[in-house]
Amino acid sequence: MSGLEPRRLRALGEIPVGQLRHIGPQRTAALESMGLLSVFDLLTLYPRRHIDRTRRVDLSDLVVGDEAAVFAEVTSVAARRTRQGKSLVDVVVVDHGATLKIAFFNQPWRAGQLRAGVQALFFGKVSDFRGTRQMTNPVVDVVVGVAGEERDARRVGGIVAVYPASGKAGVSSWEMGGFVEESLKRAGPLLDPLSSSLRRDHSLVDRTAAFWGMHIPRDMTEIPPARRRLVFDEFLRLQLLFALRRRRLEATSAGVRHPFDVADLAAAPGALSDDSSSLVRQFLSAHRFALTGAQRRVLEEIGHDMASPVPMHRLLQGDVGSGKTVVALATLLMSLDGGRQGALMAPTEVLAEQHLAALRADLAGLVVRDDAVLGGQRDLVVQLLTGRVKGKERLAIREGLAAGAVDIVVGTHALLSDDVRFRALGAVVIDEQHRFGVEQRAVLRDKGRDHSEEARDPDLLVMTATPIPRTAAMVVFGDLDRSVLDEMPGGRRAIVTHWATTPDESSAAWQKVRDEVAAGRRAYVICPLVEESERVEATSAVAERTRLATHELKGLSVGLLHGQMKGAEKDEVMSQFRRGDVQVLVATVVIEVGVDVAQASVIVIEDAWRFGLAQLHQLRGRVGRGDAQSFCFLLGAAPTDDARQRLSALVSSTDGFALAEVDLDLRGEGTLLGARQRGRSDLRLANLRRDEAILHEARDVALALVRDDDWGDNAELIDELRLFVDEDEAQYLFRS
Ligand code: ADP
Ligand code: MG
Repeated sequence: MSGLEPRRLRALGEIPVGQLRHIGPQRTAALESMGLLSVFDLLTLYPRRHIDRTRRVDLSDLVVGDEAAVFAEVTSVAARRTRQGKSLVDVVVVDHGATLKIAFFNQPWRAGQLRAGVQALFFGKVSDFRGTRQMTNPVVDVVVGVAGEERDARRVGGIVAVYPASGKAGVSSWEMGGFVEESLKRAGPLLDPLSSSLRRDHSLVDRTAAFWGMHIPRDMTEIPPARRRLVFDEFLRLQLLFALRRRRLEATSAGVRHPFDVADLAAAPGALSDDSSSLVRQFLSAHRFALTGAQRRVLEEIGHDMASPVPMHRLLQGDVGSGKTVVALATLLMSLDGGRQGALMAPTEVLAEQHLAALRADLAGLVVRDDAVLGGQRDLVVQLLTGRVKGKERLAIREGLAAGAVDIVVGTHALLSDDVRFRALGAVVIDEQHRFGVEQRAVLRDKGRDHSEEARDPDLLVMTATPIPRTAAMVVFGDLDRSVLDEMPGGRRAIVTHWATTPDESSAAWQKVRDEVAAGRRAYVICPLVEESERVEATSAVAERTRLATHELKGLSVGLLHGQMKGAEKDEVMSQFRRGDVQVLVATVVIEVGVDVAQASVIVIEDAWRFGLAQLHQLRGRVGRGDAQSFCFLLGAAPTDDARQRLSALVSSTDGFALAEVDLDLRGEGTLLGARQRGRSDLRLANLRRDEAILHEARDVALALVRDDDWGDNAELIDELRLFVDEDEAQYLFRS
């Protein structure tokens, strides 16, 4: 390709960093160790911030108590020991004539790093030390080192971009800036896959300007539009991939048109129904309670999908206790109404068994048509299939599924096993989706097509009780439609949450446990999280149970539940707890999801700060499921600011969606997106909170592009997407 022809991004992905000037084998290895392999990788390594050296920041304006970021040059460094024998490095920095003292304790290596002449960014709290202002142990970004790094007056005097540097690989921010600049020059003009009219409509600068404006802005005002364009591109690629996946799915799938009558959803307890009514109607007219408005709306959305020939691909979000189970049940019944089967998959055996019991109770009395039996009808059959179902029993259930004698199967991962086949699988519901990945969703879908006599794609509903903010859902589950249960069943009282940090407050918590148990209710105690291993965690849970049973909760019947127990042991203790033979259940986080015991009215979470916010909310959701006022006690002080904010948020709100927003603020999206995205498709620059509006725009553009009949003409965009998917997926998505 000639140097003047605009380059595609993918071409830049094929130029190894070693081909750049100034990058020899050693630097190449260092960059590779940071995951930077190509010119494209360098171009998308964005500055963490920009420092405007053209504007004067007066060090003498710093106020004691403030957190500040100062960019300054080191003038002197002295290393010594304090009287207690601690290492102390005293550094003096200067900027525009004003000086600041910086002290580093226990970081003797700073003396080597921060030699006179080094320019760096120091970030920390300004304190007062014997009348002079100083910073202690600030975070340091060396921007301009001394050894071997020529000073470039332009780069130091203008706007300095601060890059993610690596001390381990020995690449400084300054050096990185040089590599990026080299990459920009080497890349030359970049091809812009977006038409000029589209750019104009969305106020987007062109791609070449965007990369230059981000990395080497001449002026601070160039940065926001550059950033906007680059963020837009990140979202657009992601949303294009989602849109293409959907388009493929719709084009290649053979879905089932399930019978569905929206009027059936209006059936409340006591409504008229008979043998000729749909199972959905029969079920609702005999059920314990009427649907909430939200449940009915969500079931309408689901019913609509079920009735269409395109397989449903829907995410149901509903806070803990919002009543997802009945939605799952009605969905499975819609499948049965068309003479097909349903599957419900749960993440653990405890949950699968709990679902089985609930389903059997709720569906008792329902009758299905079956031409294979005398009279043409029989009782609806629900069976369990987990890793523990073995031998003859397993064989019988497998045969029942293959022959159509089993209508609904509830299970764990065991359902995914290759030997499980169906006569006609019409609908699959996955509970607690966050425990399962995209691959498992695909396997379940295949059950309908390749493991059923009737080769059809089943409708798929995935449920999660971990609320995900809308924006995050758009980037994590962008290929799923979304329904939200945003209403709690009526009459439920909000759980009262206390955060107990003193011994007196803890005693009050334990007293509450005793009071509730005395009133015939039950309690959970969650043991401190032990990270090392499940085994260590189990050991500590055993010890904690013994301690509680002999001290704080002496005289009560205290049971134990942890991840190392055998399935049968877990069942036994769960049923004792349900019956009330066990009054207090000491547990590890194994009970986090879904366990439903209505009589439990108090939960004590030890060392609460160790748990994440979403996890705490889930744990708290184990109580407040019955009529009694319920309580949650968070024990222990919070050692960090972050932990303090988490626990305060929990005390002040019981709304999972509001907490999810707080969580997103506290943790950033990195953790949230986590492993769900592969390699380069990571959002490197985009920030979900800040860039929500851009996300919506990009999504609309992606949908419009893919909907267009001439989508195939977007050769440049398609080419670019290949950077972000593996070969298999590219084959699948881009095959015309
Ligand atoms: P989730 O799985 O969403 O956490 P569940 O389906 O377990 O919630 O429901 C929580 C509790 O609320 C259960 O005890 C359930 O019987 C009850 N429930 C669900 N929907 C309703 C409703 N519409 N009216 C009254 N109670 C309901
Ligand atoms: Mg549930």
